[in-house]
Amino acid sequence: MKKIIIIGAGLGGLAAAVRLAKSGFDVTVLEKNETVGGKVNFVEAGGYKFDTGASLLTMRHVFEDLFTFAEKRLEDYLDLTSLDPICRYFWTDGITLDASPDLQKTENEIEKFAPQDVENFHKYLSDSKQKYQIAEKTFLARSLNDLPKLLRPKYLKDLLAISSLKTLDAHNKNYFRSPKLQQLFNRFATYNGSSPYRTPATFALVPFVEFGLGAWYVRGGIYEIPKALAKLAREFNVKIRTNCAVEKIVIENRKAVGVRVENGEIQHADFVIANSDAIKTYRNLIDKSFFNKKLDAREPSCSGFVLLLGTNKKFPSLAHHNIFFSDNYKAEFDALFVDLRPAQNPTIYVCAASKTDETQSPENCENLFVLINAPYMSDKTDWSSEAKPYRDLIIKKLEKFGLEDLEKSIEFEQIITPADFENRYRTNRGSIYGVSSNGFFSAFLRVPNRARKIKNLYFVGGATHPGGGMPLVLLSGKMASELILLQK
Ligand SMILES: Cc1cc2nc3c(=O)[nH]c(=O)nc-3n(C[C@H](O)[C@H](O)[C@H](O)COP(=O)(O)OP(=O)(O)OC[C@H]3O[C@@H](n4cnc5c(N)ncnc54)[C@H](O)[C@@H]3O)c2cc1C
Repeated sequence: MKKIIIIGAGLGGLAAAVRLAKSGFDVTVLEKNETVGGKVNFVEAGGYKFDTGASLLTMRHVFEDLFTFAEKRLEDYLDLTSLDPICRYFWTDGITLDASPDLQKTENEIEKFAPQDVENFHKYLSDSKQKYQIAEKTFLARSLNDLPKLLRPKYLKDLLAISSLKTLDAHNKNYFRSPKLQQLFNRFATYNGSSPYRTPATFALVPFVEFGLGAWYVRGGIYEIPKALAKLAREFNVKIRTNCAVEKIVIENRKAVGVRVENGEIQHADFVIANSDAIKTYRNLIDKSFFNKKLDAREPSCSGFVLLLGTNKKFPSLAHHNIFFSDNYKAEFDALFVDLRPAQNPTIYVCAASKTDETQSPENCENLFVLINAPYMSDKTDWSSEAKPYRDLIIKKLEKFGLEDLEKSIEFEQIITPADFENRYRTNRGSIYGVSSNGFFSAFLRVPNRARKIKNLYFVGGATHPGGGMPLVLLSGKMASELILLQK
């Protein structure tokens, strides 16, 4: 039986493990942390439960596809609840919008403050759907190693149809007259950690994913996902070793032949898959002779500043997912990607899973997961001194938005900074989605799933193709395993 070693038990690594073990390989996953799941992780304290990474499940069919491949049923492993509203949006002038997969409901919400844009909303979504459908059969279906195939006339026409030299912001301004709706649809650039003022209009496909395909919560918390994938992997005899950091990928004659773990032990393998951040893997785990300066200089996605707040009261104005918009979105992204500084007037995301799932907090309490986009790590920000004042600014801002006595109600609290994301999961400069999609060709410049210059070495996860976010890293696991099967 051929042996595979996977470095890292993030979702991309676990998805590849399931597929390859099901296909007859002997698979071992080596994870540096004590828990599986990578950035999908959790904290439990004082009767509160918090997911510390992803909070919204989209593209359910990608998860189903993995379970179907394993000849299992997703419903036997995960209890998914469809969310309506998907997200409640708040602006400083008191206007709110509940985004719903029921388009009539969303239309009614838009009608309240931007009746002139109701028709534009439908036109926008139909363009978004078309973009998504093209991406699904091209970019999301094939590894970048298949780029020559994608550039054949059969696909090229489609790819050109969704490519654009316009930014997402310019595209949204073309469709919507209301600055509020422009801002709302600009927000989808942050789903892969990028700026709407630099990311191409191709990403206007993301709203269809939410409005058209729906959004889900997993009962018990999003951490149920890695738990379920690890269980599934073990059912196919995958060995998962936690507290086991890989120090080097062993390469002989330009071929990966195993790994060296931090205690010096060498483990041999026929194939090595890195689910560790792909840029950092090239930087730290692979012999310097393969170092690629251009790759190393790729702009990381943004990071995140997170507050986990257990509050001894409920906040009736909140839905499960909430966005509190800033008044100056452009200034926010300039701070993040130009100045590399935390925005002083940031948009704030609040997830209150306790609204849907009573197991997440004590009775009459909330488990608030607060996320603010933050710059990737650089010498411009010292989180050891800036975290506390930034936390105070966020709490005050939320109180102003109507979360009355938030400060007084906090009985559990934890701060997670970009430095934590960098250290805990060894991500490139604390990025939470891998590399950014700022730039018109960025999507084609990701690390491909099969190494170009080292045989038998593969990459999965957010910094590889097709990108960050839970469903996409599951797809990277699929692409890498299909490439290995071709080579078998
Ligand atoms: C705050 C936050 C909010 C998010 N929100 C959403 C959301 O709502 N919806 C969504 O779909 N996505 C969301 N995401 C993104 C999503 O969580 C990630 O894209 C995805 O989970 C990353 O998976 P991955 O396969 O890249 O692995 P990672 O999660 O990066 O895991 C890689 C693993 O490799 C391990 N590792 C690294 N180096 C080594 C080594 N040398 N040896 C052994 N192990 C090693 C790490 O410890 C880690 O466990 C969010 C992420 C964050 C952080």
